[in-house]
Amino acid sequence: MLPASIHVIVRDWLNANHVLFIGPDENVLVDAGYVTHADDTVRLVREQLGGRPLHRLVNTHCHSDHMGGNAAVQRAFGCPIWIPEGEAASIEAWDTRALWIDYAGQRAERFRFDAIIRPGDTLGMGGLHWETIAAPGHDMGAVMFWNPAERILLSGDALWRRGFGVVLPGDGWRERLDAARSTLMRIRALDPRVVIPGHGEPFTDAGAAIDLCLARIEAFEADEARLARCVVKVMLSFALLDLGSLEEVSLPDYLASVPLYGEYDRAWMHLGFDELARTLVDDLARAGAVVRSDGRVVAAASA
Ligand SMILES: [Zn+2]
Repeated sequence: MLPASIHVIVRDWLNANHVLFIGPDENVLVDAGYVTHADDTVRLVREQLGGRPLHRLVNTHCHSDHMGGNAAVQRAFGCPIWIPEGEAASIEAWDTRALWIDYAGQRAERFRFDAIIRPGDTLGMGGLHWETIAAPGHDMGAVMFWNPAERILLSGDALWRRGFGVVLPGDGWRERLDAARSTLMRIRALDPRVVIPGHGEPFTDAGAAIDLCLARIEAFEADEARLARCVVKVMLSFALLDLGSLEEVSLPDYLASVPLYGEYDRAWMHLGFDELARTLVDDLARAGAVVRSDGRVVAAASA
């Protein structure tokens, strides 16, 4: 399904996949995973490299699950870091709100980038030419990488097998959903043979995945509060994957300590932290994302 120069290291929801291109000229890594698992990332990449150097680290976008391990990868391999142009200002300023770090209860290690990638740029990776295509929506500065000869797309969080990265409600939410739809239409027009997503296994039926995402966008467009409820569930699931578990009685305090939850509750849910905590755990337990155990809320992946 994939040329031998492309090595997809499939991770999980806390750590984005790593796509490692080996040879013929350079070895390039796309996306570096989450900060707390950076040792695993370095080990996995080192195993695949088998003693060869890493020449470059490239990010599809700068969320903590894709760039949290950038600094560790750079320390381990001494490689330069290339990020999309649209992320440069937030990374330069280390804007923890724009980057969804402290604002959403996430963590990342600060890093410095060495070069910018712009939509329209062509990157040589794994002996193939990759077009850089803007992929706004989930992250307005995100890019994806497209190889027309093999019809392979590295989609980042713009398209997964069953969904796409969350789009935030609030100012500009309709523009973000519009952008997410345009990005999906662009992917449909490319007609990829294989999609290598930011999370999950590579897949071939892009059309079905796109249909599912478009239907979801339509449902969100009709109801901003629905989008807000989805985002708080995604953010809490993610934080629980990071922390492993939280004491259920302390969850209201946790929610109060992370700005996003209070802002969203005041704008769309109006529950207060106690009720918000209860509703969230009920919903996530029903969805199988968490389990209640000995008074703790445990991420299902670490249960
Ligand atoms: Zn993302």
